[in-house]
Amino acid sequence: MLDWLISNFFYLIGLILSMPPLENNITAVKLRIESACLKVDRPIADVSLLAVSKTRSAKTLKLAYLAGLRQFGENYVSEAQEKIPQLPADIIWHFIGPIQSNKSRIIAENFSWVQSLDRIKLVQRLNNQRPEHLPPLQCLIQVNISEEEQKAGIAPDQVETLAKAIINSPRLTLRGLMAIPKVTEKAQENAAIFAKMTALFNHLKTLSATVDTLSMGMSQDMDEAIAQGSTMVRIGTDLFGPRN
Ligand SMILES: *Cc1c(COP(=O)(O)O)cnc(C)c1O
Repeated sequence: MLDWLISNFFYLIGLILSMPPLENNITAVKLRIESACLKVDRPIADVSLLAVSKTRSAKTLKLAYLAGLRQFGENYVSEAQEKIPQLPADIIWHFIGPIQSNKSRIIAENFSWVQSLDRIKLVQRLNNQRPEHLPPLQCLIQVNISEEEQKAGIAPDQVETLAKAIINSPRLTLRGLMAIPKVTEKAQENAAIFAKMTALFNHLKTLSATVDTLSMGMSQDMDEAIAQGSTMVRIGTDLFGPRN
């Protein structure tokens, strides 16, 4: 017992120190989602919270799980591959980072959702690689909505073609769109970009009844994203603190 206490000393201290802030952060983020919904008369249940857990330890994620969070977003394949087996099986894992083609199998085998689908080649690979014993992989198309040169994501005018390829893939289910817009100083400009995503999302809904998710809004801009129609916010910093 004493040995155990000594060898887990820092873990226990960490547990004690980190428990209240994380729970407070979760409560604060949920309140922010609720008030953003209320402001524009949207039902609170319209917007779900994805905890962005890149760079956070499995221990931290366990605490977040114990505090009630069930959906986590990871950006790096090898980091996720190490953490996923250490955590409860009812967590819904979303892959949200740039996808290297040669890592697609790991994503197909370990995640429930992929939010960063941005090219046809990946549609074919993920469809072939999704194991039969798992439900279809839930897919969001990442859109380069600010049309930045160096950004991941497909151009808005290419979305429909990619969407049709996903719809025609039996091991994939098209659920909607994801974007990481450039945040500017001007609230109006940000709102206009989010509104563009919402228009694209509404068009996508006419292609398939499975489309129900618009993933936009991060710690900095979640309120504006919700005001413009986001159905899922992806929050890292405001839940877990700044990243190193
Ligand atoms: C890191 C990341 C987030 C979370 O960003 P925060 O500003 O820490 O909330 C959301 N979405 C994607 C795709 C990310 O890579």
